[in-house]
Amino acid sequence: MKLETLAVHAGRATDPTTGAVAPPIILSSTFERAADGSFPHGHVYTRTENPNRLALEDCLHQLESGSSAAAFSSGSAASAAIFQALPTGSHVIAPLDSYTGTKILLRDIFVAPMLETTFVDMTDLDQVRAAIRPNTRLIWTETPSNPLLKITDIAGVAQIAHRIGALCVCDNTWCTPVIQQPFKFGADVIVHSTTKYFGGHSDLLGGAVIFAEDSEFTARVKQIQVRVGAVPSPFDCWLILRSVATLPWRMRAHSENAVKVADFLAEHVQVETVYYPGLPTHPGHQIAARQMSMFGGMLSFTVQGGQAAAMNVAARVKIFTRATSLGGVESLIEHRASIEGAGTSTPDNLLRVSVGLEHADDLIDDLNQALSAAD
Ligand code: PLP
Repeated sequence: MKLETLAVHAGRATDPTTGAVAPPIILSSTFERAADGSFPHGHVYTRTENPNRLALEDCLHQLESGSSAAAFSSGSAASAAIFQALPTGSHVIAPLDSYTGTKILLRDIFVAPMLETTFVDMTDLDQVRAAIRPNTRLIWTETPSNPLLKITDIAGVAQIAHRIGALCVCDNTWCTPVIQQPFKFGADVIVHSTTKYFGGHSDLLGGAVIFAEDSEFTARVKQIQVRVGAVPSPFDCWLILRSVATLPWRMRAHSENAVKVADFLAEHVQVETVYYPGLPTHPGHQIAARQMSMFGGMLSFTVQGGQAAAMNVAARVKIFTRATSLGGVESLIEHRASIEGAGTSTPDNLLRVSVGLEHADDLIDDLNQALSAAD
């Protein structure tokens, strides 16, 4: 079945009790037992399972062509569950350029003796090989990376991981399965912040871990999901599933708009560099063209004149909203270094853009007036 069809139907069925076409939201935290003590409807308690969460998990693993999924209350909770599921003392190889929150989890929270992490430039497979230790259990990828849109060769990293019996995880938040299907390239586990494109409307938090094949690791992550309890609410699961129906069409429009915005920025005299894998000049363009079906709705650019000039551009936009996050219908722009905080290596004149679903001409006009005023 094609992705557009799955997006509308996976995890959704007409409600058998009412005939409702849109699924009901089951808010109940607990479910009735029969007189003999059994659970005739298969549900016990909403932390362990809830109909809306089960429907969402069913949909997510089908979209990624995985075997099963575990939904979480945020992308960060999903990532943390993966780290918690590793044996104590495991070594992780992670990208230098990744979502800051993931880096903070590995640098400040999951520290020795729990885990040890080596951060490498994941675009350089020699660096990945050189970082391997006898206790390396997991290699983390995020591609395109955040905020420099570096492209990692998922198949190359997965091969290295499998040679040493380690797992290859791919954070597929920025692409979604509409653009990139990491299991096809050998990844074992996919993580998502469903807060972003899956939710699609900047009105919820969520995360998910999806497994290529169920294993002991799957059971451990699912145990952590229900025992630690960082689960999404039934309402948030319902909202995400509702939004998934339009995901393939939204991703197409985000990507088409982003290509136009990137082309415009690449020609502007006030712009130093545009980081967008769809540009043929991008160092990861060839790999991106191989593993992505479109180039996505995210891009970054640096502004001539340093931090003050970049802040001025962000201050002058009228259609873009100055805010962190991504993947919603509205375009966002943010000065990334100041949200990442002290010690970041992000250039201080870099603006990150989540290209929304407005008309591309309006977005370009808005950036043009903001950049021209910075002359
Ligand atoms: N992964 C990526 C690539 C992200 O961009 C983010 C958030 O920005 C996360 C994970 C964390 O997601 P959440 O904010 O839902 O915890």
